[in-house]
Amino acid sequence: MELLKELCLADGISGFEKDVAEIMKRELKKSCDKVDIDSFGNVTGQKGKGKAKIMIAAHMDEVGLMVKNINEKGFISFVKIGGIDDRILLAQRVRIKGKKGAVPGVIGSKPPHLQRKEETEKVMKHDELFIDIGAKDKKDAESKVAVGDQVIFESDYGNLSDDYVYGKAIDDRIGCYALLKVMEKIPDNIDATVYGVATCQEEVGLKGARVAAFRINPDCALAIDTTIAGDTPQIKESESMLRIGDGPAITIAEASGRGLISHPGIRELLINTAKKNRIPYQIDVVEGGMTDGAMIYMTREGIPTGVLSIPCRYIHTPTGVFSMKDLDSSISLLFKAVMEYRL
Ligand SMILES: [Zn+2]
Repeated sequence: MELLKELCLADGISGFEKDVAEIMKRELKKSCDKVDIDSFGNVTGQKGKGKAKIMIAAHMDEVGLMVKNINEKGFISFVKIGGIDDRILLAQRVRIKGKKGAVPGVIGSKPPHLQRKEETEKVMKHDELFIDIGAKDKKDAESKVAVGDQVIFESDYGNLSDDYVYGKAIDDRIGCYALLKVMEKIPDNIDATVYGVATCQEEVGLKGARVAAFRINPDCALAIDTTIAGDTPQIKESESMLRIGDGPAITIAEASGRGLISHPGIRELLINTAKKNRIPYQIDVVEGGMTDGAMIYMTREGIPTGVLSIPCRYIHTPTGVFSMKDLDSSISLLFKAVMEYRL
């Protein structure tokens, strides 16, 4: 479990995936015939020599912030990288990855004692907030951080129960972990060529998967990502039926059809493989939100693509929750589906 923890705690907002890429490269080298990093930063491990080309994708980037401006007093304003609800930002602890190392910071807020009634009722927008790094002034702040530095949510990793795990960046580091485990399980003599791709910049437009799919030009692709569990008090059954612990979700459509509409053949492959091997699964129709699959399936002349998602609570916040059982089932299902695939 150390590897999973290492992946979740590694820092890498979109475009800054280097630390995660290092881990992926190191681990893929243990199981693959060939590992390389393309000009975009995607890490690809290749295994097998068969004719059928299968691509598996998991994204390395996490949502976070980026330094936009440092004011005269040394306080920092920022932009959001990826979809983040402004309401979760207040009073968060963050880490700014400066040139000389990580600089701790706090997203500051006005104490309730000083707030007028109308202020207590309104959501503070991210552009009204600031990061305090304890700098004396602008010059002092600029000696540690610069405009354009990545800002990571300070978070931890641990267990809520025997099965439920909380962590930072579980979207999609648990997918990266699954990818590594699947590549490890695939036998060297598989009658296919499998490309395990850890992609970049998914959270800001599914970009890395697009260039990787073009380069590999696979016969089919599977993306492994996280999805929204609907088993918490605020979410209605009509919004999400998924429950953590009930198995990975096989996607039918993303973003009400604006994202991936999964290929019937790949969808059947996943469903039939799950049934045959008695692996629990759920079916996911997503109202909003997309995965790498949405870009891969429109690459070149169209690539038959499916998505397997691990239901998570509180994604796109500093701390998400998932079930270890679901992660294990995802690895089994993905591995078995790869082995079952025929051209
Ligand atoms: Zn994701």
